[in-house]
Amino acid sequence: MNIILFGPPGAGKGTQANNLIKNYNLFKVSTGDLLRNEVKNRTALGVKIESVINKGSLVSDGIINDLITKILSDSKFANRIVFDGYPRNLNQTKALEQLMNKYNQKISCVLSLEVEKEIVIKRILGRQICSKCGLIFNEYFSPSNNKNHKCDSKFLQKRSDDSEKTVKDRFDTYLEKTLPILNFYKKQNLLHQINGSAKITDIYKEIQGIITSIETWLYRLCLYN
Ligand code: AMP
Repeated sequence: MNIILFGPPGAGKGTQANNLIKNYNLFKVSTGDLLRNEVKNRTALGVKIESVINKGSLVSDGIINDLITKILSDSKFANRIVFDGYPRNLNQTKALEQLMNKYNQKISCVLSLEVEKEIVIKRILGRQICSKCGLIFNEYFSPSNNKNHKCDSKFLQKRSDDSEKTVKDRFDTYLEKTLPILNFYKKQNLLHQINGSAKITDIYKEIQGIITSIETWLYRLCLYN
């Protein structure tokens, strides 16, 4: 099963991706994480893209397609991916279609987490990510404590592009470049729209319901073929 998690910055894609990979034994492919790693390790690519990320704009499609090609050509990931933050525009969507065909794979569903701009801004300004285990918290809404998090609080970090100005720019980039993708997947009957303002656990229950219905459908398809 390959899943695309879709939604504006701060919609909760990373949190739900973490739930999915744990319970369904999948791999998370977050282009944002891959790019931030390049920046953190001061690679040639990282130095080139740092200012683009900090401005809230999109990194070039060529760079992204190279990253995704590397992953899809590795059989370890075959039909076991949760895409978080990819594709981000129509060009990337079409490139993904071609790669899926080339590697004989399919997108199983697109889960769109829908949240308003004001909520997203509040969420992002409180966002904290554990650099050790990858869990995501919010210092106002869902703070880390010794029940929900085993690592020391010194590992909690803010993202460099989580400032108010950049968040607004990232949201505008999402509306202009990313939102048009929804129609593409709607036409293919792959789109599921979910209220991303609901509680994290309720959102996840809804996602599990969607996955169960897809699995049932795929099972019946196998029986009849
Ligand atoms: P994210 O972690 O998904 O919010 O991404 C953080 C930043 O990385 C974005 O604001 C973009 O600058 C860049 N980025 C992440 N994914 C992509 C992508 N698929 N295409 C272009 N830029 C991306």
